[in-house]
Amino acid sequence: MISVKKAQLIISKNIRPLGFESVLLNNARNRILSQDIIANIPMPQFDNSAMDGFAVRAADTKGANKSSPKTLMMVGVSSAGVSNDIILHPGECVQCMTGGKIPKGADSIVIVENSSGFLDSKTVKIFKEAKIGEHIRKRGEEVQEGDVVISKGTCITPSEIGILATFGCEKISVMIKPKVGIFVTGNELIEPGHKIKLGQIYNSNFYVFSELVEQSGAEIVMSEVIKDDKDSLRKSFSKALQVCDIIISSGGVSMGRFDYVREVYNELGVQEHFWKVAQKPGKPLFFGTMGTSLIFGLPGNPVSSFICYMKYIYPAIQRLQKKKKNPQHQGVLTDDFPVDTKKHRYLFGRSWINSHGKLLCTPTSKMGSHMLTASLGSNCILESPPGKYKLKAGDKITINLLNWGSSK
Ligand code: AMP
Ligand code: MG
Repeated sequence: MISVKKAQLIISKNIRPLGFESVLLNNARNRILSQDIIANIPMPQFDNSAMDGFAVRAADTKGANKSSPKTLMMVGVSSAGVSNDIILHPGECVQCMTGGKIPKGADSIVIVENSSGFLDSKTVKIFKEAKIGEHIRKRGEEVQEGDVVISKGTCITPSEIGILATFGCEKISVMIKPKVGIFVTGNELIEPGHKIKLGQIYNSNFYVFSELVEQSGAEIVMSEVIKDDKDSLRKSFSKALQVCDIIISSGGVSMGRFDYVREVYNELGVQEHFWKVAQKPGKPLFFGTMGTSLIFGLPGNPVSSFICYMKYIYPAIQRLQKKKKNPQHQGVLTDDFPVDTKKHRYLFGRSWINSHGKLLCTPTSKMGSHMLTASLGSNCILESPPGKYKLKAGDKITINLLNWGSSK
């Protein structure tokens, strides 16, 4: 049995990041950028108006108010999408719409509400003094040409999609998605939708893994439900070893009479790096490699396999795509946490920030590795290293936030 730290180290040493490919902006969702995105233009690209109004020289509006307006000559119109080379002389103004280029010579915008309006007359009355720079978006004030706007390793979410579009990127260089095979094993498993008989168990792991793999930004290329039968395991795994970057199996990896998973992996030539980690839940975790494929044999209990996925497979998928690591946080426990003297302890939990800005967390009261309802409503996994110490309410503990969890 090895420690959690050692197990994590062994996995990370065996990861060879995948290559990159080009995708269209429309297909870039949830992919990981393989290159920095550099601004090829400044943003804004030119000084433009933030409001519908009149481009003026502020000095020409000095002292203007409702009862004694300043009258300016209207010499043109500047609207978004239309380039113009108007030059503003003293005493002149230009109708300037939101996004319209600021004419040379103008130094501020008077909003249309503070004027006699967009009439087609030769003169305009200004009812309010303008301040220099008012309502003008300056060239490059948001992003300068050459700036790194998004760094490589970033996951493409709606914000990144927006920025990629803003800078005109059509083809995006992203990391190749890991190809994943999901295999759940067990004679007792039946699928949702079928009538359950005594002794059977609905297969939930497959559905949890499918969701998690999608969330992790990997691609499921194979999936099967397999009986506790060596031949079936051999057949499915050997096919998977040819096509998958990651193989995930659940069940059949402990000490039971019909637990053949480890044996079959070994038979097929998988190099075993470890089996059994000093952790609770998830002790019988198996990890091996064959070529560049990573093979994870997770225990069948639903909480064990869920937590093992999040602590070992999720980071592996991130590293394969050189994705930035998720941070851990330290939060204050509202309840005691069951530290184990010999095993790293994980529990689903709920965390939130209280009205004093303090990060608090509550571990689930459902401790069993078969109790998947413990994950309901949770937004984090709490963890404590082994040792002869206690974690009481008020003590600090490490929090791993689940991306999809909402705060309390
Ligand atoms: P095993 O690791 O195969 O000994 O399985 C441990 C426990 O997890 C047993 O009670 C199994 O019935 C349960 N289990 C195994 N696979 C699944 C699955 N796919 N979905 C839900 N429970 C499972
Ligand atoms: Mg089993």
